[in-house]
Amino acid sequence: INQIESLRKKLGIHVRGESVPGPILSFSSCNLPKKLEENLENAGFELPTPIQMQAIPAALLNRNLIISADTGSGKTASFLVPIISRCSNIRLQHLRPCDRIPLAMVLAPTRELCIQLEDQAKVLAKGLPFKTALVVGGVAMASQVHRIQKGIELIVGTPGRLIDLLSKHNIELDEVCIFVLDEVDCILQRGFRDQVMQIFKALSHPQLLMVSATISHEVDKMASFMTKNLTYVLAGNPNI
Ligand code: ADP
Ligand code: MG
Repeated sequence: INQIESLRKKLGIHVRGESVPGPILSFSSCNLPKKLEENLENAGFELPTPIQMQAIPAALLNRNLIISADTGSGKTASFLVPIISRCSNIRLQHLRPCDRIPLAMVLAPTRELCIQLEDQAKVLAKGLPFKTALVVGGVAMASQVHRIQKGIELIVGTPGRLIDLLSKHNIELDEVCIFVLDEVDCILQRGFRDQVMQIFKALSHPQLLMVSATISHEVDKMASFMTKNLTYVLAGNPNI
């Protein structure tokens, strides 16, 4: 068997999809912004976890991914690292008009999870042109809109509050180029399917990353509905 395959086997990584890049063995092997590499090191992330080894290089190639691995295996950084890398490169190279409308959006099922995700993003993006906005219940919507209008790169929010914001305010989502659904099985269990689809329709063909410990039939179905080009990246004990 070839080298990449045996490496994946050793690491407990499974992939499904066309020409998936090989796993990276360190954070320094995929051309991340220097600051991001430093921040990872300062956060104590010496080596990528298996899901990060495989998901990060695939996401950096703009693949639409289903990312699945056990709870606690580091799925958060597997999507935040490519988000921060792509978005800050866009800003640093002035690839978009500089009115700083959001480039990435992460939806998660609960307020608490959104808070944790935004915190992690702030830690990893320190010193980079990368600002975040939290869009969850329990905070005045006007202040969230104000924050977004001041210029941000990433929105982290719950589907319900984002729909409220979309329907009551003019938020510009045209430049969102990465759309993440974290704990997507839980998002669907909570009955957020229609809201997620409505938000997705407001975007213009972003890269899609769907993240979950378990991939249910419902998750699979929604993913295939949203995109025809899906790559599966699994680590640990995949249930599919
Ligand atoms: P999951 O979303 O898969 O349940 P998390 O992304 O929340 O897992 O990560 C679980 C814990 O592992 C967190 O405390 C996180 O800071 C830590 N962690 C993630 N990646 C690494 C890494 N590469 N090195 C060290 N710790 C890590
Ligand atoms: Mg998680």
